[in-house]
Parts: sequence; C-alpha cells; structure tokens
Amino acid sequence: MKIYNTLTKRIEEFIPNEGNTVKMYTCGPTVYHYAHIGNLRTYIFEDILEKGLSYLGYEVIRAMNITDVGHLTSDSDTGEDKMAKGARREGKSVYEIADFYTEAFLNDMKLLNIKVPSIIEKASDNIDIYIKMIQKMIDEDYAYLSNGNVYFDISKAKDYYQLSGKNADDLKIGVRDTVEEDKSKRNPADFVLWFTLSKFENQIMKWDSPWGVGYPGWHIECSGISYKIFGDYLDIHCGGVDNIFPHHTNEIAQSEAYLGHKWCNYWCHGAHLNDESGKMSKSNGEFLTVSLLEQKGYSPLDYRFFCLNSHYRNPLVFTYDSLDGTRNALKKLKARVHSLLDEGEFDEEAFQKYKKQFSDALSSDLNTSLMITVVYDVLKDKSLSDKTKKTLIEDFDQVLSLDLFVEEKSEIDSSLEQMIMDKIEERKVAKMNKNFQLADQIRDDLLKQGIKLIDTREGTTYEII
Ligand code: AMP
Ligand code: ZN
Repeated sequence: MKIYNTLTKRIEEFIPNEGNTVKMYTCGPTVYHYAHIGNLRTYIFEDILEKGLSYLGYEVIRAMNITDVGHLTSDSDTGEDKMAKGARREGKSVYEIADFYTEAFLNDMKLLNIKVPSIIEKASDNIDIYIKMIQKMIDEDYAYLSNGNVYFDISKAKDYYQLSGKNADDLKIGVRDTVEEDKSKRNPADFVLWFTLSKFENQIMKWDSPWGVGYPGWHIECSGISYKIFGDYLDIHCGGVDNIFPHHTNEIAQSEAYLGHKWCNYWCHGAHLNDESGKMSKSNGEFLTVSLLEQKGYSPLDYRFFCLNSHYRNPLVFTYDSLDGTRNALKKLKARVHSLLDEGEFDEEAFQKYKKQFSDALSSDLNTSLMITVVYDVLKDKSLSDKTKKTLIEDFDQVLSLDLFVEEKSEIDSSLEQMIMDKIEERKVAKMNKNFQLADQIRDDLLKQGIKLIDTREGTTYEII
C-alpha cells in the first residue's frame, strides 16, 4: 500500500511496526450535533483505508474516540465548549446530548456502510489516563501549571511544526488574528492539557485532579486513548485536514513527550467536502445530513458513491446536481450487476488479473475512482463469464461497500420499476391497436432515459444501460 503521509509530505510505502498488524487510530466525532455529510466524507475515506488494508491482507485494529468533553469552538483553547453549546440549544444535559448524537452518528455510519471501529472510547471515560500522562509531562518539564490551568510548553517539543509545515511566525499571525491572548501561557502557541480555571462556570463534566477540579483539553483525549489501546506505538493516524493543526500537531507533541520517542509514522488526512458557499457548516445555510438526503429521496449509498468517485485528497464541492448524476450512475451500475447470471466457467487467470488491477488502484494512495473503473472494465469484458464477473465484483464490494448485489428496496426504485411496467403495458396496448408509431415512441423515450426494452417470445423485459 502506498499512501500520502502528511508528516513527510510524500507518497510512501506503508510499513507497519509489527509485521502484519496495523494499529490504526481515527479521530471521532464531537457529539454535540448531527454529523454533516462533510464529516462523514472523512469517515468514508477512513473506512476505505481500513477495509483496503484488510483486503490487502493486513490485520487492522482500529480505535476511535467519541469527544464528549473539552472540544472548544475554536479547536484551540478559546471559544465556547461545543457540548455545552449543544446542551443549551436543546435544553438538555450534556450527557443526554452526548448519548443522543453518539447514537445518531453510529446510525449514519451504518447507513453509509462504514464499518464501526472495533474499539470506541468515550473521552470522558478515560480521565485517569490523561491525568497520568499530564503529571509525567509536568514532572519532566514539558508542561507547566499557570493560573490554575496546565499548559504544554511547545518550545520543548522536538519538531512542533513538522506535521503542519507551518512555522512559528505563521502561528504568531494566526494567534494574533484569531485567538484572544491567554496571559497565563509562556508561549502564545502553548495549549491547554487540563482546565481548572474554567471560563465556563456551568461546566457540568468535571473531575478532581492533582491541579484542582476541572476537565481535559481536547487534544490529550486522543493521545490518552491511543496510548491506552495501543501502547507505545501507533502505525497510522487519520482525520480531516482541519485536524492537522492544532489537533494532530498537539497530539504528536504530547504523546512523544510522554513516551520519550517517535510515536506514529503515518498521518493521513482527507480533504474537505464544501458546499457551494465554500464551507460546510452546522449552523449556517442548509445543514446537510444523511437524513436530509434520505428525505430528498437519495440513498445514503448514493452519497458514498459520490465520495468514492473523487480522490480523498481533493476538495470536493457538494451540489444536488452532481449527486443526481451519481445516483443515476449507481442505479445503472447496480442494474448491470443484477443482470449477471450465475453462469459460465470461472476463469481463475482473469480473476487474478482484475484483482491485481483493483489492488493496484487501491494501493496507489486509495485511488477509489480507478477502483470503480475496474468494476466497469470487468462488466464490459466480453471474454468473461457472468460467474467470473460476479465473483470479481463481490470481491471488490468488500472494500467499496456499495451493496452492489443487494436489491434496491427504496421507493424510488419501485416507482421506477412501476413506471417502466406501465410504459411496457401502454406499448403493448398501442401495438394491439396497431398504433406502431406510439409503440415506437414509447420505446425511444425509454431508451433516452437509459432503459432498453427487449421483446422476447414470453413478453417484453428491460435492461438499464
Ligand atoms: P468533529 O466532529 O468536528 O470533531 O469532526 C469530525 C471529523 O470530520 C474530523 O475528522 C474532521 O476533520 C472532519 N471534518 C470536519 N469538517 C469536514 C468537512 N467539511 N469535510 C470533510 N471532513 C470534515
Ligand atoms: Zn483526535
């Protein structure tokens, strides 16, 4: 597997630390609201990566956190607590909000055929680990207590700017423009490991600690959970590009300070999904969720297919027009796959040839659109039996997870089917009445919509082309 590594800014051969086992960590959602389809684009990319690695023969252990405390609206140490914001919006407790939106998120994953990571940990269930790590960082002078909060001193980190490719001056500008200055910090880019001096008087989730009652910063959650699950080394860590700075940058600083050595070799990031206004948002404009797409008549897998048609490192703009195009393409693809019969000789050589093409596309930094092209190539290949085609596509769908063999049960499909059956009946009546002009017209109109009528001795059937 060759994959782009944000740490080295190169496409590299992926080599895990311990033989065949891959320790994979993916940052989870902040459960203060529904995930928007932009968030879910990142989880679809991570799902392809996990399933792709398994397809290539690795044993993947994947862990993910659920952020239910500590994530502020700025992603840094300022702004409002996202969970408190959600609780206030809905007049509920943060616990109720966290439970509700965790369920909603897991349900979205299911609808999008995203495999739920084998290990999921709530941030609020791991406070003891964060305290242990923070204490060691204080003892070893990586962290300091100031005005009640515990901060990480970024000047002690080995190469704080490596992942983001930023430099101290970029950060100074960023800090001056966007962040109100915290006078308790030694360096403006230092970040909070533990808040006691909460500016949120009504903070509900809080715990006792050696530094006073408070709560952890967002970044320590992922370092702590990863350490608890995987120990000293992690093979691959993923998220959306917005996670590169400050979240992942700070995770590296903390984990390496705590462990005393390099922690994770591969960092992979998915580009954003944007709407036409430029940025996907949960508060402005249309809040694009999976259930909104369903209400509008799309299947969640239409959206999965939409994502897989572009490369995970390219920003993608969401429009209903392009989703319509993808929906039609998926419908046609499924119809072609369904028309395959369990017939003919299985051709092992051809099977291996196409499997290699698919694996090569997968191994080229997750080239999902090329993987889909291999599916079409298989369908087009006249030298292959239906049996070989079916076996190949079933094999590929382990990674693509488009349910290519599952019958459509959606209303749209049955209404399409109904429409075609009605037209076939209308044409039959026209023919009986010797109105051949109308009969041909009906046939030609359907053909323009990609539906080909086939007249047989038993009656008329159709094929989606
Ligand atoms: P959050 O729930 O805000 O912590 O974000 C969950 C995940 O979604 C993170 O991995 C983010 O990097 C990712 N993410 C946020 N916005 C977008 C977007 N517009 N497109 C793709 N991924 C996103
Ligand atoms: Zn994280």
